[in-house]
Amino acid sequence: MGLNWGNDDQSNQRAVAPPPPERSQANPVLEQQQTLLDQLPQTDSSRVRVDDKRMINCRADLNQLVPFKYKWAWEKYLAACRNNWSPQEVNMQDDIREWNTPGALTDDERRIVKRSLGFFSTADSLVANNLVLAVYRLITNPECRQYLLRQAFEEAMHTEAYQYCIESLSMDEGEIFNMYHEVSSVAAKAEWAIRYTRAISDPNFATGTVEKDREFLKNLIAYYCVTEGMFFYCGFTQVLSMGRRGRLKGITEQFRYIMRDESMHVDFGVAVINTIVRENPQLWDDEMRRASREMIREGTELEIAYAHDTMPQPILGFSADSMAQYLRYIADRRCEKIGLEPLYSGRVENPFPWMSEMIDLRKEANFFERQVTDYKANAGLSWSEG
Ligand code: FE
Repeated sequence: MGLNWGNDDQSNQRAVAPPPPERSQANPVLEQQQTLLDQLPQTDSSRVRVDDKRMINCRADLNQLVPFKYKWAWEKYLAACRNNWSPQEVNMQDDIREWNTPGALTDDERRIVKRSLGFFSTADSLVANNLVLAVYRLITNPECRQYLLRQAFEEAMHTEAYQYCIESLSMDEGEIFNMYHEVSSVAAKAEWAIRYTRAISDPNFATGTVEKDREFLKNLIAYYCVTEGMFFYCGFTQVLSMGRRGRLKGITEQFRYIMRDESMHVDFGVAVINTIVRENPQLWDDEMRRASREMIREGTELEIAYAHDTMPQPILGFSADSMAQYLRYIADRRCEKIGLEPLYSGRVENPFPWMSEMIDLRKEANFFERQVTDYKANAGLSWSEG
């Protein structure tokens, strides 16, 4: 029997519970449940040994979290939970005043903000859908699934943060949420990502062959290394740069928290990709390496096109060209992290070293003194945990 609710009368009643229904008795609920169970991957229900666990195509019972095989995944899950924050905790009053004061922001600055919210408000939904509809089912490791559940929540919260900004500034929601259809530099990035979700979100898609395993690996590279690892960085840099100049500090603060989460998503994804490759070296042949580099190259070029579209002239102390240099620098780091040759010589200098520091909030106490003080007063987010 199941749980003991501490009620003696009920416990006694349970002792004489009716026998389970015979198979011959038609029970539509049970039959439907059985059908759903049949659709789950078949796993071995015996006690799990560490050596049984694998990142993909594992037959060990996925409901047994321990023993851990990938301690790093569990630690990343715990770290993500410690970084908890909420969009509603950020005060948007100054931003509302600034946004509605004629001349407080230039047209170029306003375009950057609108484009960023337009891209990100749908991009995090694309990432969340890919996680829930495709990745979660195919990752056959419970500690990694635990992180994926946390990541899915964070993507939902990021979408909420963007909506909170859009609503606070009374933006035209139809215009912002349709940018991924209507603005070509935004649409190109969304279409590129969706292409990689399409096949593997089919419920009939299954890993287990070299071809299908590679397809899944490409999805992980498309989302963790390119969508979250590349497509977010022009917008992050632009918005954070506004905050450095004392503008739209509420939106900037939201983006800083989001960027911290996103950099952890990339770290996690890279670890998953490298684990799959280590456990399945046959997947990572010359052709797969070439194709993976090509994906990162395409992503970089799309993000550079986005930089040119959003910054037709220099703004906030930098230009589309210096942004392109930054994106090439990031592309080489993404390649390096998953064992690929750099795309752009590997010696591109980072033109925005302050961005690396922004990702690590522990080093940021002086940057937003106002918010740090606010949070201390509100007993809100802790700045000592990063
Ligand atoms: Fe993410």
